[in-house]
Amino acid sequence: MDQPLSLVALETSPPSFSAEAAASMAQEIFGIGGTAHPLYGERDQNFRIKTAAGSNIILKILGPNEDPGSVEFQTEALTHIAMMDPSLPVPRVRRTVSGEAYTRITDERGIPHIIRALDFQPGLVMDGVEPSPVLLRHAGGTLARLNLALANFFHPAAGQRIVWDLRRIVDLRPSSKLIEDVETRKLIEAVLDRFIAFLPQMSRLRHQMVHNDLHPGNMLVDDAATQVTGLLDFGDMIHAPLVFDVAVTAAETVGDMPPIEYGTEIVAGYDAVMPLQEAEFPALFEAIIARHALSATIHAWRRHNDPAGAEKLGALSALSAPAIEAYLRAGRDEVVAKFRAAAAAKAGTANLAERRFHALGRGLELSYAEPVHLVRGEGVFLYAPDGTRYLDAYNNVPSVGHGNRKVAAAIARQMETLCTNTRYLHESIVEYAERLTATLPKELDTCLFVNSGSEANDAAYRIAKIVTGKTGAIVMEHAYHGVTDVVAALSPYYGPFVQPLAPFVQTLPSPDTDADPVEAARRAIAALRESGHGVAMLLIDSAFVSNGIVNVPQGWFAAVAGEVRKAGGLVVGDEVQSGFGRMGDEFWGFATHGVVPDLVTLGKPMANGHPTGAVVARRELLDAFTSRIEFFSTFGGNPVSAAAALATLDELQSRNLQDNAHTTGAKLREEIRGLNHPVLGEVRGSGLMVGVQVNGNAALAKGIANATRRNRVLIGTEGPAGNVLKIRPPLPFGPEHVEIFVEALRASLP
Ligand code: PMP
Repeated sequence: MDQPLSLVALETSPPSFSAEAAASMAQEIFGIGGTAHPLYGERDQNFRIKTAAGSNIILKILGPNEDPGSVEFQTEALTHIAMMDPSLPVPRVRRTVSGEAYTRITDERGIPHIIRALDFQPGLVMDGVEPSPVLLRHAGGTLARLNLALANFFHPAAGQRIVWDLRRIVDLRPSSKLIEDVETRKLIEAVLDRFIAFLPQMSRLRHQMVHNDLHPGNMLVDDAATQVTGLLDFGDMIHAPLVFDVAVTAAETVGDMPPIEYGTEIVAGYDAVMPLQEAEFPALFEAIIARHALSATIHAWRRHNDPAGAEKLGALSALSAPAIEAYLRAGRDEVVAKFRAAAAAKAGTANLAERRFHALGRGLELSYAEPVHLVRGEGVFLYAPDGTRYLDAYNNVPSVGHGNRKVAAAIARQMETLCTNTRYLHESIVEYAERLTATLPKELDTCLFVNSGSEANDAAYRIAKIVTGKTGAIVMEHAYHGVTDVVAALSPYYGPFVQPLAPFVQTLPSPDTDADPVEAARRAIAALRESGHGVAMLLIDSAFVSNGIVNVPQGWFAAVAGEVRKAGGLVVGDEVQSGFGRMGDEFWGFATHGVVPDLVTLGKPMANGHPTGAVVARRELLDAFTSRIEFFSTFGGNPVSAAAALATLDELQSRNLQDNAHTTGAKLREEIRGLNHPVLGEVRGSGLMVGVQVNGNAALAKGIANATRRNRVLIGTEGPAGNVLKIRPPLPFGPEHVEIFVEALRASLP
């Protein structure tokens, strides 16, 4: 029988160089010094080269029949993938000292071999673990990303004739007679014939470059086996129907569950990233059973011609017949319906995004390139409709944890009892004001309740104007203080094209610049005097979040505050980000700077997500304001908000969440630093307010945030250049969450 070339290649065993020879070739050819450790290879001889610096490289010495065109093909494909989707875990090609992707060596018999090197990819081989649905979906999604990255790639070698191309079943068909068991042979032959008949329909489907061999032996997973961390072996790539790739992974991922369950999860994960077309679903069914029939046939051929080689295929091929039977028993219609339903559950998210665009407009930003659809939260975790769990390292509002039962119960109880406003006497708002002011310096003793941080800053500015008789304000360059018209004017963050700096606003340079704070304050004060506004207030976020969570020299804030007070202005501490224990060392951000403001503004974490805000002031300042202005906020300080804020404060205090922010925050920063990655720069912040400088631009930082999202951890980006990672989890974040976080971040770095 005329065998295809690759079957001939399968017959030859790998080269047999010694480990010493491999180590010296790694040094001479690739400039990589280290010890060589042999690894398994079906056709190539592989060594892992461990360098003294701790990095690992795979040295591959190819069998004599291997085609240099195929090596060039793989090199170009890997380079293309790395460019299209830099965080996809594919091996990076190591070049020789003279810059080539490979070179040739000869063995002692004078036979030439191609030698090449790839970066070693860490992880456990997936076929050694029982894959969970989460891992299966991640594998499907990773495969889809690989397909997307390969979609616009081509190379002449993509037409290579390989035996594992399902379309070559026609040529392999005669080998099925080598299957010994009669029943199995009949089953396999029926599937082979069925597939040959289906091929014309296959040829009408989307074609592109496919990996064609992404079975669990070619995928690496993390220690927790929740995500794919490596994709291996690009030697079987071909230009073919896209569904071939889904079929290989779906067919060859097997374990304790019924075979169709594996396929379903993989299809759902795949479809969420790259939706399958209608006609591809039935084709997928056909390709899955055909892949099983193909492996059984190749196995029979090998057992006949190369019993040693057959051993390696043995275990998998034994599963082929039962898997085919399971699929056939369920029937194509039912399996297709099951695949479609699983994909539709995922597609529900895409549909919701589309409805959201229509209902809310396209301008309102959604976080992440792949939006996150959430239905539930618990503690520091958030859950998608399909149960996918995300570690929340971003949201500071649910400071005592998502879905906090105590806060929820307090809100529900109060809502069904009474919800009025502060014009009636009610116990809880008074009790809350007393408890809140007890956490503040004694001067800050009187509260004005509103519904958000923006409203609090708006009210603070009104108070400052009434009290001082002046209208000017000093804020940080790139400050963000909220959404009302005047507060937006106090927020240079929006940028000069959106919101030109108003004449009543002056800015101070970030404390991490060389600018002298006293001089900067004096210049701002002088400018406000000159424009006739004078200084009503200095407004500062003690966490300097929108500046990029920068380091603030001791005394910086006090120096600026001193100048402003000398000029007759009030000092307003915006504690929307830094208040309520987040900073760890102190309950309030201003205290970390040794300053006591005249007014503080509160919001976000105050009631764990229930909209509540406040201004806390020195009594005479608030009295001066309320005696002149009849201030009434309909919802501000209502009994439900008061109950929510009280329950939140109870939780913060009884669970010592400030102390937790202190210790966990320190560990978090230390472990991020420990990653020692060239893309990560300074790790800054205090408590559970953490900023990580990215050595690169905003796009790189966003790319990392998108990758961590894919790795099921939510973070954001910040700073004037957008290149700071913003990490600001709910306060019950513990050391066990730091571990999950750091692993996900590690896996998300380029
Ligand atoms: N001040 C600061 C420092 C903030 O970060 C924010 C919100 N990001 C606000 C005020 C405004 O708060 P809100 O969106 O609740 O109005």
